[in-house]
Amino acid sequence: LTTLREIGEFEAIRRLTRSREEDRGDRAAAPRAGDAHGVILGAGDDAAVLRPAEGLDLVATTDAFVERVHYDPALLSPREIGARLAAACVSDLAAMAARPRWALHSIGARGDHDVDALIDLQRGIADALATDGAIIVGGNLAAVEDEEWMSLTVLGEVARGHARARAGGVAGDLIAMTGRPGRAAAGLALTLALGRDRPEEWRELIDAWIRPASRVAAALALEATGFVHAAIDVSDGFAADLHHLCEASGVGGEVEERALLDDPPLARAAAKVGRPIERFLFGPSDDYELLLAIDPAGRARCEQAARGLDVRLEFIGRLVAGAPRVIRVGVDGSRRPLDPRGWDHYQR
Ligand SMILES: [Mg+2]
Repeated sequence: LTTLREIGEFEAIRRLTRSREEDRGDRAAAPRAGDAHGVILGAGDDAAVLRPAEGLDLVATTDAFVERVHYDPALLSPREIGARLAAACVSDLAAMAARPRWALHSIGARGDHDVDALIDLQRGIADALATDGAIIVGGNLAAVEDEEWMSLTVLGEVARGHARARAGGVAGDLIAMTGRPGRAAAGLALTLALGRDRPEEWRELIDAWIRPASRVAAALALEATGFVHAAIDVSDGFAADLHHLCEASGVGGEVEERALLDDPPLARAAAKVGRPIERFLFGPSDDYELLLAIDPAGRARCEQAARGLDVRLEFIGRLVAGAPRVIRVGVDGSRRPLDPRGWDHYQR
């Protein structure tokens, strides 16, 4: 075990940089993939110099994880924590229909932090980014006394004027979602109940929380159909994020419970941890899936696009004229308001 205190900031940064360059070399066909990534000047100077392709807009997002608030080092490996941080940022870019390209990450670590564990954390980030061809181009290391934290900023590209916003949905649009809502919340609840012991039986749900799949390819394919009017990623929870989309678009929504409740593994998990399935479906859950408002004329095209990528795309409701409220339509036709509470960092 070699700690940050033993080798100091500059040696730690040198090792982090060397490690990711070596890994990148192993991953890429070319030994140095620099130019192919649009990096004019990479790590080692005061700032990175990046060159976006002509005719594209840059899309930027950032996210931060704080120890014991967003992750528990006793439950997740450094690599898993890094992968989840990357997934959070990549998901925001996917929501905008942007392709991730460059990332900067900052870490606030205690002096007793093992340097190899930091390298593993960075590897988790870099591997997750590599799925979509993005790379880390720089970072920062800061010493902390108490809770550790990390932040990641990811820059992506989208054809000029084609970033997909939350606003743009209109009454009559269909609401569709990739994946299944609530599975990340169930995976988290199971992990809290079972610790690092992860039985095969729950793998699908635990993976939904620990290693959510990138939806960038799906987002780009759906955007290419020309029928997506608005999009958001599910990072707070299905109900909360659908409300965000409705508010931004200035419409209401109706969702069919039938389509959502039919998730046997989720129902089993709810029974296992003794919670109603609705808590997972409609409460906080960082599923990192896409929630979309789609022109009804484009339903078949979008289904085809998702199928081509082997991504589940479920049509679960519609946008309606009126205030930005969402109604749950029960299997028996009953109508009740959907509580918009998802994950709010200040009202937990
Ligand atoms: Mg988002």
